[in-house]
Amino acid sequence: MMLSEPLIEQILDRAAGGYEELTRAANGARFCRHPVQLSNIAPEYQWNRLSATYERPSKSDFRGLYFKACGTRRRTRCDACSEIYKGDARHLILAGLLGGKGVSPEVATHPTVFATFTAPSFGRVHRCGSRGGKRIVCGPSSARCVHGRRMGCWRRHSEDDEIVGSPLCDQCYDYEGAVLWNAASSKLWQRTTIYLRRSLAKLLEVRGSDLSKMVRLSYVKVIEYQRRGLVHLHVLLRADSPDDVSMPPDVEVSAVQIEIAIRMAVATAKISLADTESNRVISWGEQIDIRPVDEGDSAKVANYIAKYATKSASDSGGLDRRFRTQREIASVEAPRHLKMMAETAFALGQREVGRDLNLAMWAHDLGHRGHFLTKSRQFSVTFSYLRQIRQLWREAQREELGGTVDQPYNEHEPLYFVGQGWLFAGDAYLVGQQRNEYIEARVLFREQKAEEPQAQGALI
Ligand SMILES: [Zn+2]
Ligand SMILES: [Zn+2]
Ligand SMILES: [Zn+2]
Repeated sequence: MMLSEPLIEQILDRAAGGYEELTRAANGARFCRHPVQLSNIAPEYQWNRLSATYERPSKSDFRGLYFKACGTRRRTRCDACSEIYKGDARHLILAGLLGGKGVSPEVATHPTVFATFTAPSFGRVHRCGSRGGKRIVCGPSSARCVHGRRMGCWRRHSEDDEIVGSPLCDQCYDYEGAVLWNAASSKLWQRTTIYLRRSLAKLLEVRGSDLSKMVRLSYVKVIEYQRRGLVHLHVLLRADSPDDVSMPPDVEVSAVQIEIAIRMAVATAKISLADTESNRVISWGEQIDIRPVDEGDSAKVANYIAKYATKSASDSGGLDRRFRTQREIASVEAPRHLKMMAETAFALGQREVGRDLNLAMWAHDLGHRGHFLTKSRQFSVTFSYLRQIRQLWREAQREELGGTVDQPYNEHEPLYFVGQGWLFAGDAYLVGQQRNEYIEARVLFREQKAEEPQAQGALI
């Protein structure tokens, strides 16, 4: 990267004064790319003190601001914060599988399954894959659709071919159906858990109302975007005693029985979107993958799931934040098919069916609303709990090193939002250098830890 002259000047000025303060602020904000600037000064008084424009940073030029990490999970927005989120997601899942972080290690012996739920088809799309070490043909067929387009493709697409996942005919493809499916997938999952309990009661030959006194099913659910823009749901499901997470269920239940109960539930769970324009029924696709998880698999499963934690609908970064207008969607960088999904979601948001689902707000997530990771209360610890123990660990470390924490703000007074980002491009550059080192160190640490997946060490 070529540095411009004003940037070099700013970097030199900072090196001459305030570099230590910057490093301290960067460290406090975990080397975030776009930290939130907070201040004890009420907004009505900020103007005088904060809005003066300085072209050159000086030692005192932090303007009484406190920089707080943006905390996003999306890699395309902030690589430092997404790295932390990914680590926390992994710890949260591992604690649910093996115990630790306050969860009883006994959970590792309880029946647990890992299930992947998929969406049905909304039209033919280009696909890739391999069989016997050879790439498969996309979709051999000589048929044509009503629009005169070929419904076959004899190419052998590679993984990185951008066309993979996009429809053979845009007009035939049911974009609305695909977006509405994403939007309703969480609700479909909720419905499935109800059927699951009923199916399990049937299998165990107990009354539904009695089952809840014998078994509690806890889960963690994460989403993954497929190339076709639909979400996959990866779910870990564990059976415990309803009274005590550290105890096994009060009735004998196996992972295989849970698997059968899931398959029964999946076949019957449906959501109807009874809007005036269409009476759509949302149900699962045919591909459901379910396997039991035992202790030996735990680290592998946790890594597999955490891999998706920092992703957005597209890796290009075009779909990582909310759109204000339909026009904005056209100008972002993302595969055409995914942009059409986003446009469909935005347009649906202007209509009755999508207004209730608030689809314009979730257009960047292609209609899927809500969090990457959701869990039932008993499955594991929460993200905020992990943040708290990390904070305590950091404070203990600092004390051990004999360092003092000099807060640039008074924590007993209210904090106000001022802006976002580092104050100078030069500061952002210097923090960027530190960020790279920080991420490298984390990756190295994780690789070392991978050798000992059950280690309950500090969260870095
Ligand atoms: Zn950040
Ligand atoms: Zn193809
Ligand atoms: Zn067509």
